[in-house]
Amino acid sequence: MAIRDILTVPDPRLKQVSKPVERVDDDIRALMDDMLESMYAADGIGLAAIQVGVPLRVIVMDLARSGEKPQPRYFVNPEILDASGELQPYEEGCLSVPTYYDEVERPDRVKIRYLDYNGAEVVEEAEGIYAVCIQHEMDHLEGVLFIDKLSRLKRDAAIRKVKKLERQKALDAAE
Ligand code: ZN
Repeated sequence: MAIRDILTVPDPRLKQVSKPVERVDDDIRALMDDMLESMYAADGIGLAAIQVGVPLRVIVMDLARSGEKPQPRYFVNPEILDASGELQPYEEGCLSVPTYYDEVERPDRVKIRYLDYNGAEVVEEAEGIYAVCIQHEMDHLEGVLFIDKLSRLKRDAAIRKVKKLERQKALDAAE
């Protein structure tokens, strides 16, 4: 396993539409292992493959709270079969938009279908934070970030904040 670099805005690769996975094989499992390790290292709860520069429809997630036993989840070619319930606001963040958080409204229940780590098909209902997270990650597969759902003013402010942060990181590294 290896920790991979996570792309940040405004990297144009984050705008790509990811392609379906043909077969859940050892290469895809190795990718998922790396993604999970990279996500844990960055203190995230969800990560899409495009965030490490791989344009495939693969997502990893772990919603366990700190101190709880890890609960890794893996999603290949996920689809939303049904979105029901009310739109609920939730303050979202993203490893590709570090340190910026803002409220986004999404349906609070979704029915999803995906292939798991072993390639088996799963159909289940997601609600609460799970529903928020899977919808956020699935947007990445379409090249959409949560800040794309905000006003242009807020989006520009978020990107400026991340650019500044990245510049500072580069300076610190050069010292
Ligand atoms: Zn994200």
